[in-house]
Amino acid sequence: AVARSLGSCIFCKIIKGEIPSFKLIETDLSYSFLDIGPLSKGHALIIPKDHAAKLHELPDEYLADVMPIAKKIANAQGLENYNILQNNGRIAHQVVDHVHFHVIPKPDASDDEG
Ligand code: 5GP
Repeated sequence: AVARSLGSCIFCKIIKGEIPSFKLIETDLSYSFLDIGPLSKGHALIIPKDHAAKLHELPDEYLADVMPIAKKIANAQGLENYNILQNNGRIAHQVVDHVHFHVIPKPDASDDEG
């Protein structure tokens, strides 16, 4: 299937390189990069290259590509404590209407960057 793209979508623009981003891992189906407003150091986003606003609108093949990337990011950063977050809909705090998974490191309380 051909990936959908939406001209007005900021994450589609990031995939196309029209908006710069700090790329982490890219596959045929997904793109991951650092969040511009990190909740902690290393806060990453993983997005499917197919434009779907919400999780239930995304084809399974794209969905299946995401978690192995989350695992690679966690391993690459040596994370032991972290949250995976995925919001759908305004009431559930979704701001960007293109499916995205947050990988949010949870620094140790003794860490100065905490
Ligand atoms: P949401 O609340 O929709 O789950 O999260 C959207 C996330 O996208 C936020 O954490 C926000 O900082 C991030 N974000 C929004 N615009 C950009 C951008 O242009 N570049 C990057 N790297 N992150 C963005």
